[in-house]
Amino acid sequence: MNANEQMIRDQIVSRGVRDARVLDAMRSVPRELFVPPQHRASAYDDTPLPLVHGQTISQPFIVAAMTELLNLRGHERVLELGTGSGYQTAVLARLAREVFSAELEPALARSVAERLAQLHITNVQLRVGDGVQIFRDEAPFDAILSAAAPIEIPEALVEQLAEGGRCVIPVGTVEEQHLWLIERKGGAVERRKLDAVRFVPLRT
Ligand code: SAH
Repeated sequence: MNANEQMIRDQIVSRGVRDARVLDAMRSVPRELFVPPQHRASAYDDTPLPLVHGQTISQPFIVAAMTELLNLRGHERVLELGTGSGYQTAVLARLAREVFSAELEPALARSVAERLAQLHITNVQLRVGDGVQIFRDEAPFDAILSAAAPIEIPEALVEQLAEGGRCVIPVGTVEEQHLWLIERKGGAVERRKLDAVRFVPLRT
């Protein structure tokens, strides 16, 4: 069994992620491609890893769990906030029609396009800027995933959610954060607080 397959079994399936499409998507994305060279030996470890500028590449389990919550079936247009290494972006790209991914930090955004091209991923648009605002011209989205945590759910983000759409986002301070699942159903917006998590702050 290779390291990726072992990661999926021991860290992801064992903790309850069962969506076969999500597991297949993770099988098809080599995580070592997204990890800085000096951390490559740890690419499949059960932990977030450092990127540049104090940012981190998310723990594999959290990528799987958040992706599963979006319930992607293949036709969706997805907004991602916090491209980072592009690992989560690649997983989303395998599962949706189109991914619009925003990263505030220009130094991080630069290498992502190249990595995605190496994997022959062509359904991603990358922009440098604040993810709450920078893809407003492409709204509404069927799914929104944020890898950075605002103090409160930004209403500007909820506005960009299509009917039937789902948004998964960490919300809170550095000390106390929870994952939230926001759904727009029949014109109403439902907000559910889920597990405690730890993400970098969403900056503006
Ligand atoms: N999913 C990424 C996680 C990156 S960490 C990965 O696994 O690699 C979160 C990222 O969000 C950081 O790169 C940070 O620079 C970025 N970020 C913070 N605030 C942002 C904002 N308002 N818009 C877009 N990106 C933002």
